[in-house]
Amino acid sequence: MSKIAFIGLGNMGGGMAANLVKAGHDVHAFDLSAEALARAADNGCTTYTSVREAVQGAEAVVSMLPNGAIVDSVYAADVIGQAPSSALLLDCSTIDVATARKVEDAAQAAGYEMVDAPVSGGIAAANGGTLTFMVGGSDAAFAKAEPILAAMGKAVIHAGASGAGQAAKICNNMILGATMIATCEAFALAEKLGLDLQTFYDISSKASGQSWSMTSYCPVPGVGPASPADNGYQGGFAAALMLKDLKLAMEAAASAGADVPMGQRAEELYAAFAEAGNGGMDFSGIIKTFQ
Ligand code: NAD
Repeated sequence: MSKIAFIGLGNMGGGMAANLVKAGHDVHAFDLSAEALARAADNGCTTYTSVREAVQGAEAVVSMLPNGAIVDSVYAADVIGQAPSSALLLDCSTIDVATARKVEDAAQAAGYEMVDAPVSGGIAAANGGTLTFMVGGSDAAFAKAEPILAAMGKAVIHAGASGAGQAAKICNNMILGATMIATCEAFALAEKLGLDLQTFYDISSKASGQSWSMTSYCPVPGVGPASPADNGYQGGFAAALMLKDLKLAMEAAASAGADVPMGQRAEELYAAFAEAGNGGMDFSGIIKTFQ
């Protein structure tokens, strides 16, 4: 059992912290939201009124926060220099590669080991302890992070040095955004050409058009396995979060001088979809754009 501080107990962090408690850890929780803290207390966490109090005496600090600016300010103001320098720092938020490296550099300069460990999998996977973690950091930091992350996920993969977890996450989600749009426009065209959509699925899911977006998350209601399409495009992975990840991918591509025309078009289409008031809808709902 380790004493683990957990910062950010929202949709994702709430379930993750609960799984650390179930694995026998002593979880010291802080969130700005009283509601999130009350849920954490119900799930067996000890709650605190500030980050600084929550990290006192911690052997590890896990954060699951909305964006890079918040991660940067929380670590700079209230984690680095406040948690014991022996504490392992793990940021599981999805943030830009540059900020992840900046925060990790500052932590290392102050004597901490830190990893970026963003996740694949949504709220159900966070609650069920079946997330996939992509981890950036040294071999030594990864070895310490692995058992903590394993209590919250089904797979923990060392992606490389500092920032590599975030790099893997945004490259993966850039594929996901583009393949979902490709799948949606193909189903919409198939329908306009008079094809029965179940028949098209039966063919394409066994042919070279197959992808995760088609066979694990089909955007057409009643076709393929159960997915948010069967639930009015509610639940699942919100289009606004897909847009956030595509924006991070575009920033990273610009800084690396990479040409990403499909990712760029996916970002434009998700931006238009979100601006039309659909940001809260599951990202597969973008099929409505093409129907
Ligand atoms: P969320 O908004 O539900 O939770 C974030 C929590 O952080 C909130 O409870 C908020 O009150 C808290 N918070 C904000 N600023 C804080 C501060 N300064 N100190 C303490 N707490 C603070 O968001 P979420 O859906 O849980 O997402 C968290 C992260 O996980 C994001 O980076 C997101 O991109 C990533 N992610 C989300 C999903 C998903 O399906 N929701 C999937 C993969 C990755």
